[in-house]
Amino acid sequence: MTDTPTPPNVLTIAGADSGGGAGIQADLKTFHAHGVHGLSAIAAVTSQNTRGVTAVHAVPLTHIRSQIAAVFDDFPIAAVKTGMLGNAATVRLVARELRKRKPAWLVVDPVMIATSGARLLDEDAMDALINELIPLADVLTPNLPEAEALLGHPLRTSRQLHDAGQALLELGAGGVLLKGGHARGNEVVDRYFDESGSMELRHPRLPREGHGTGCTLASAIAAGLARGQRPRSAVRRATAYVQRALKHGYRPGGGSVHVLRH
Ligand code: PLP
Repeated sequence: MTDTPTPPNVLTIAGADSGGGAGIQADLKTFHAHGVHGLSAIAAVTSQNTRGVTAVHAVPLTHIRSQIAAVFDDFPIAAVKTGMLGNAATVRLVARELRKRKPAWLVVDPVMIATSGARLLDEDAMDALINELIPLADVLTPNLPEAEALLGHPLRTSRQLHDAGQALLELGAGGVLLKGGHARGNEVVDRYFDESGSMELRHPRLPREGHGTGCTLASAIAAGLARGQRPRSAVRRATAYVQRALKHGYRPGGGSVHVLRH
């Protein structure tokens, strides 16, 4: 009997969501749906449901390091995605490990605050994120509040948004997907910036609040890169994937948020 062809391995380094909608759980579902083998290094464990986050446990650094070592020492890893890292020491550790292990592709989702309002990254971790992790990223995926926090000023006009893309690129990422979901309007405009310019991705705003959309988007981009897509193509396809998954989303708990159907 011949073996089934081996799919590429993709690693997520992120937080776990006990409610199964965001974080590691969303990442692994997304990887599976994209035909790649998902690996995980859990950096934080949240106690969470569709109503919000009730507790966060930061995984000890030694154990984050040993999870990363365990997977890199055994699997050829085609792409890595980072999500919720929780604190500055974890961001520094993850950056150090990635500098050492040099994955071909890195997608950094600079997770800071959940839609429910819970803080998922300590305020004093911003320097480590900007100086150590973001310069390693091939694709950085901030939403508007995250971009404002990274740049230290509000983003309102289209001129400011365009300049923000350039300013974020100057932090050292290869490409920046500035997600427009937090702006108002019937249409969501995401903007992707890289050295060859920018592209806009427009889609109708769905009349529902998604949970885990950012995690899913970054993971879908990482899976696309692992499967040989170029960054612009991976970004375009991942955006369409999230739209579809949100359109078919469902409400598994008592809260108002929709979980994506992968
Ligand atoms: N929980 C974890 C572990 C996450 O990584 C994230 C987002 O990245 C969230 C919750 C928040 O998800 P959302 O803002 O989509 O509700």
